Order: sequence, then C-alpha cells, then structure tokens
Amino acid sequence: MNGYLALRKIIDTIFDIFTLSPKEAREKYFLFPNFAEHIAKLFHEERLIDIPERLEIQSEIVKKYNPPVRPALDPYVSTQIGIFNKNFSDWEIGYFLNYPDCCIKSFTEEIRYGIDEKHLKEIRNFNKIFLITAGFIPHSLFCKEAFQNFLICIIEEKDIPKIRKLEIELFNSLPHFHSEYKYHYYEIISNKILGNSYNEFIT
Ligand SMILES: [Zn+2]
Repeated sequence: MNGYLALRKIIDTIFDIFTLSPKEAREKYFLFPNFAEHIAKLFHEERLIDIPERLEIQSEIVKKYNPPVRPALDPYVSTQIGIFNKNFSDWEIGYFLNYPDCCIKSFTEEIRYGIDEKHLKEIRNFNKIFLITAGFIPHSLFCKEAFQNFLICIIEEKDIPKIRKLEIELFNSLPHFHSEYKYHYYEIISNKILGNSYNEFIT
C-alpha cells in the first residue's frame, strides 16, 4: 500500500456507505457509526450528488503521482460529508480517516491543532524532511503506526517539487472554498526549512 491506496481506502469506504441504508452503514462501520449513518442519510437525501465525480477525479490525479503519503481528502468532500462540522467525536472522524489511536488520543486529550513546539523539539537534531498528510496531527513525528498508514514519511529535498505539483493539480482540478486548505494537501516539515523561526519557536 502507498499514499494512493491509503486515499483510495477512504474513497472506497465512502462509495460503500452510499450503497447502504443509514442503519446498515451504522452497523457495518461500527468504529464511526454516527458518522457513517450521517453520510448514508445525506446520500439518500440526494445531497451528495457532486461527490462521486470529485472523488474519482482526486483518485485519478493521486494515482498518477503515486505519492508515498496520502494527501488530505478533497476539502470540498470533507465539508459536504460533515468532517469539519464538529457534530462527531474526534475518535469517529479519526477512525474514518485511518488515523492511529495514539495520534487521535493526543489530538483530543492534549488539544493539538497543528504541528507544534513538541513536534519541532523532536526533530531539533534530526536533519530530515517529513511529509505529512494535511490535517493529520501525529502524536509524534516518529509515530510508527502513522508511517504504516501512509500519513507520514521522510522524503528527499528533490521530491518536494513533485509534491507541490500534485497539490497544485488537485486544487486546480477540484477548486474549493476551504480557506485553510487551498493548495495545501500536505505539511512539509524540517528543522532546516523552518530556519530561524524554528529556533525562535523552541528557545
Ligand atoms: Zn501516533
């Protein structure tokens, strides 16, 4: 499995929920019952008509680039299916997005809203570049499960332009109005790139 298949797994889950009644969705996806039921309801009410096409477009683009880590799910889709509306627990959304337990736990209990001081301290003396799925906040930049779920990896500097190109193609092909995302489907983190601001941040 790689970044493409990790994204495809989420897309296939959405398509599968579309074939189920809200009750069936709730039973089958018992790790995120309320959220699965909600998606099935929206689909049956014909409120997700433009979603399948967008999912297929994102899937095709990501397949072509074959990135080592999955990008964020199309922010328009995420908005429409209710990922950002806070009606569901962080655990349900986390399981739906295939986030590891350890990372969901640190996100909810320590209220971590982004790559923070704690993450940066971990890589103070580690001169590598991390590629992370945007929106995902690992409990540690070295979280083994997050690496296994294709949510984080270490990349070479020469691979960054290809990732940036993928982000641009995704946004241009699937425009959306989520102000925090735009061309932002990944986080790219390193102590070098952060330069002075990084040093100020941790001292
Ligand atoms: Zn973790």
